[in-house]
Amino acid sequence: ELEAAARRVEELVRLVPDFPEPGVLFRDITPLLADGDAFAQVCAALAVQAGGPVDLVAGMEARGFLLAAPIAVHLGAGLIPVRKAGKLPGPLASESYSLEYGDATIELHPSTIPAGARVLVVDDVLATGGTAAATIRLVERCGATVVGLSFLVEIEALAGRAQLAGHAVHALVSVP
Ligand code: AMP
Repeated sequence: ELEAAARRVEELVRLVPDFPEPGVLFRDITPLLADGDAFAQVCAALAVQAGGPVDLVAGMEARGFLLAAPIAVHLGAGLIPVRKAGKLPGPLASESYSLEYGDATIELHPSTIPAGARVLVVDDVLATGGTAAATIRLVERCGATVVGLSFLVEIEALAGRAQLAGHAVHALVSVP
């Protein structure tokens, strides 16, 4: 089941060289989203990979939302949108992290994450791990536990997993 889902990711995630800037090999998930069977299969596989019970699924803006919502419904869990700064009305918890050029800030509503909640973090691509690591900090500041992180694709060369040490990290497909 996991292997079949991994094959769908390999088939349907389109590789776009030099997008959004030169030197980046962008992984475009829109063909996968547009294939109803493949989308359902991949979401089911990511949900199964979680392993134990999950109370909340946190998805990172924007492509993480598209995966986290169906996975949450599949698991009978709630959804936490982790948003870019300035989108949520508050009260907020915020975390900043460095990008190649400058900083990024992500935010959530801590009132929606009870202490002790078991949270699965979901995004499309694990690259440097900065976004996922900041999400872990946000969740843990609420007194909740990250029970796992699930991605469609992990780019090993960017060593994101090293930033997520101590956590269960799952990727349907790992590429060098
Ligand atoms: P990072 O914080 O470096 O792990 O970057 C993760 C975020 O950037 C994710 O939300 C991804 O959607 C996006 N991202 C990074 N690299 C790529 C890529 N090569 N293709 C598509 N999305 C990417």
